[in-house]
Amino acid sequence: MKGLVFKYKELIDWSEVPAPKIIDNEYIIVKIEVFTFSHSDYRPYLGMDDTVAKNTIMGHEGVGIVSTIGRKVTFLKVRDRVVISCIIHCNQCKFCQQGLYANCLNAGFILGTKINGTYAEYVRVPYGESSVYKLPSEISTEQGLMLSDVLLTAYENVILKVDFNKINNVALISDGPIALAILLFLNSYYKKVTVFGHHRIKLEVFKANGAEQIINSKNNEFGDEQYDLVVECVGNDRDTFTLAQQLVGFNSIIISIRLFKKPVIFNLNELWYKNITIKTGILNNGATLEVIDEILAKKLDPNVLVSQVYNKDEVMEAFNQFENKDYFKKVVNLWL
Ligand SMILES: [Zn+2]
Repeated sequence: MKGLVFKYKELIDWSEVPAPKIIDNEYIIVKIEVFTFSHSDYRPYLGMDDTVAKNTIMGHEGVGIVSTIGRKVTFLKVRDRVVISCIIHCNQCKFCQQGLYANCLNAGFILGTKINGTYAEYVRVPYGESSVYKLPSEISTEQGLMLSDVLLTAYENVILKVDFNKINNVALISDGPIALAILLFLNSYYKKVTVFGHHRIKLEVFKANGAEQIINSKNNEFGDEQYDLVVECVGNDRDTFTLAQQLVGFNSIIISIRLFKKPVIFNLNELWYKNITIKTGILNNGATLEVIDEILAKKLDPNVLVSQVYNKDEVMEAFNQFENKDYFKKVVNLWL
């Protein structure tokens, strides 16, 4: 089969690799139909971090058909269409018992980093029954794919962590896919949302999808407005935490959804009397069924997040589009 293998910095290859086999009774194998790229894949490629082991098939987002199941798997059947969670969890350890699946002692964020991931024709998923979800027929493959990571990152880190009765205005620092996913959820709450970004074409998408105000941060003019909720979710090492501290109002909240690799400056000397709250964390993929219900109720359309779909012959072209700052999620459909 084919898989997108991380060799080392700046060398990845869509190449022939051995197909996975069942090695544990709780594991399953999924025949991948679609996958999508994440900024966390470009960072190792660019040498910005070392999270992906050499000669690993990358990728933690995917939708496909269950092709093989381990003997202890009873809930899933061969030919079920499933979305694979980016967080794999055993459902038995002390952290899983608390719903903290990202901290699972036996798995966690391992797909495409420590073990072979979803950028392949087949992927082996540990603890299959707790790490994938069946997709209702009303949800399209591309919509379902957004449940692997981006929609759940937005929902679990923002929507589930905030009492929106106390929020009037929201600042989103980023014009990337997670910020757009947050906006799609926030539309249900009819809050005034301001987006700070610097990619004009993407900012227009935010405007078309309900953002009341967009501010091009290239100009370094951020206005005087103070916000009840500030969410920073950029995918690089830009110091947007400083801007978040400038924008946050009294009795307000900063939520930081970042892949931090460096320390940040926290101006506690200026903020201590404002009574602010800071929240951060990684998703657990625990609210997937709730988000499926939101999609079925037509509260949001995940298709907005998909900028481009590529076919099986365009894998490398699609990966290399990470330089294209006008796109949100880039999807590869291996069955096209
Ligand atoms: Zn666990």
